Amino acid sequence: MIYKKKVIELLAEHIPNAEPTLQFNNPFELLIAVILSAQCTDKQVNKTTEVLFKKYKTPQDFAALSQHELAEEIKGCGLYRNKSLHIIKTCKLISERYGGRVPNNFIALQALPGVGRKTANVVLNLGFGKPTLPVDTHVYRVARRLGLSAGNTPRMVEKDLTDLIPVAERGVWHHRLIHFGRSVCTARNPKCAECVVEQYCLRAKRRHD
Ligand code: SF4
Repeated sequence: MIYKKKVIELLAEHIPNAEPTLQFNNPFELLIAVILSAQCTDKQVNKTTEVLFKKYKTPQDFAALSQHELAEEIKGCGLYRNKSLHIIKTCKLISERYGGRVPNNFIALQALPGVGRKTANVVLNLGFGKPTLPVDTHVYRVARRLGLSAGNTPRMVEKDLTDLIPVAERGVWHHRLIHFGRSVCTARNPKCAECVVEQYCLRAKRRHD
């Protein structure tokens, strides 16, 4: 436990601020952006939504589109057939069940098409300021390499991280771990020589042993 606290301290010291990279103006835009971000870079999502959100602003606007129309708009984000289908169904549900407002609770969010645990947690965290700690591919990889979690599912890693990180700091830790995973502890060829927590890293230890 002491080494986990040391890792947390060092990462917080070296990455004091970490901001979301997806652009959005409200929980609805955030929800659409996160659905689009599956297997796509945030840069490409931002490029797509910059145009998309000027044309369509509400769940009702999206619900009125055909799948083909929306697919054409989001083609650059990949998986556009599934994503367009999910977005239209989700927007219909938000319009019909929730009066056009994105629900701010986990169960309702996760019941929307195209919204899994991570997406629901991101929307709650960034859109509604709730103390969730979404586990995406970067958070999952970094947490396991550093021994912050031995879990072998995102849900287990989420549990270990939320046990470790104080409620008030969970939002920033989501972004901090993503930033670290993108800039230093990358999936392939991590930059271990410039890593501030290398001495605590299980992956580095295995390599040295
Ligand atoms: S030492 Fe390398 S693998 Fe370990 S956390 Fe740092 S960058 Fe990642």
